[in-house]
Amino acid sequence: MKWEQLQTRQPVVAKLLRHAVVRERLPHAYIFEGEDRSEQVSAASLLCRAFLCQKDAIDKPCGECSDCRRVESGNHPDVTSIKPDGQSIKKHQVERLQKEFTYKGMESVRKVYIIEEADLMTASAANSLLTFLEEPEGETLAILITSNLHFLLPTIVSRSQVLTFAPLSEVERQKVFQNEGETEVLAAIKARIREIPADIPEEERLTWIVHGRQVVIQLAEEVLLRPRQARLFLQEKWHVHFKDRNHIETGLDLILFWYRDVLYTKWNREDLAYPDQLERLRTEGLHRSELMLAANMKAVIEAKRYLSANVNPQLIMERLLFRIQEGS
Ligand SMILES: [Zn+2]
Repeated sequence: MKWEQLQTRQPVVAKLLRHAVVRERLPHAYIFEGEDRSEQVSAASLLCRAFLCQKDAIDKPCGECSDCRRVESGNHPDVTSIKPDGQSIKKHQVERLQKEFTYKGMESVRKVYIIEEADLMTASAANSLLTFLEEPEGETLAILITSNLHFLLPTIVSRSQVLTFAPLSEVERQKVFQNEGETEVLAAIKARIREIPADIPEEERLTWIVHGRQVVIQLAEEVLLRPRQARLFLQEKWHVHFKDRNHIETGLDLILFWYRDVLYTKWNREDLAYPDQLERLRTEGLHRSELMLAANMKAVIEAKRYLSANVNPQLIMERLLFRIQEGS
C-alpha cells in the first residue's frame, strides 16, 4: 500500500498519519481500529516503512532503501509482529518482545512492533504491555490493531492515539477497485458482494462472478417475460452455477441488487450494481411498482434467512420465483 491508496480508502487516517510522519511527531503508540483487518495491516506496514525509511520526510517511504525493502519483505530486524497464539495473545509473547527490544543489537535506534487482534491479549499480557508503553526506550513505535476497541484496557487506550478506519460505502469501494484498474462493470459488482465463496479457486473467481452475474440477469428476464419457463431456467442454469449454500447466498445477493437497481433507476440514481444494464432495468421498472419492488427485495431477504435455517435450496428458490412473479 502507498500513501495515495490509503488516501482514497481512508482520507482522514491518511492525512493524520502523513502529517505526523512529515513533521516527525509520532506518538509512542497507535491503535488502528476498524472492521477490515487486512486494510489496517497494510496501513501499519506503510507507517512502519515511513517511520524507518532513510529518505527525507516528504518522500517517505521511498520503497527503495534497504529499510523499506526489508519491511516490505517481512524481515526487518527492528520490526516485530505479534499475532494471537491460538485463542489469545499471551504474556510470554509480550515479554519476549520486550526482551528482544532491550537486547537486540540495533540497526537503528528506531523500533516498531505491531500487535494484530490486540483485543485478544490476556489480562496479564495487556498489563505487561502497559508497563512497556509507559517506559518507551529510544524511539519505539507501537501499532495495535483491533476490531473491538472496547475490549482493550482503558489504560492502554488512553496511552495511545486511536485512529478509526471507517467502513467504506459501496460507491467508495467501487472507486477503489476502479482506481486499481478494474472495469466499471466488474468493480460495481465486486464492491457490493460481501465475499466470493471460498471454494472457488483464486484464478476462477473473476469468471465465476461474471458468469453468475449473467445468470441473474437472465433469470430476471425469464421471470419477467417467460414466467412459465422460469422454473426450468432454475434447474438448467441457476443451480448449475450456484451449486451449494454458499454459492446460493452470493446468488441471492446478486438478485437483491438487481431489484434494488430497478428501484434505483426509477429514482434516477446512478450508484448501480449493474451499470451496463440500464435499458433492461428501466424496462423492468415499467412493469413493477415501487411497492412490488420492495416486496421483491423483502422476498429475497427472507430467502436468505431460510437458507441459513437449512431449508432445501431448491424449495427456497422456487418459492422465491413465485413471490417475485406475484410481487408479494
Ligand atoms: Zn525508504
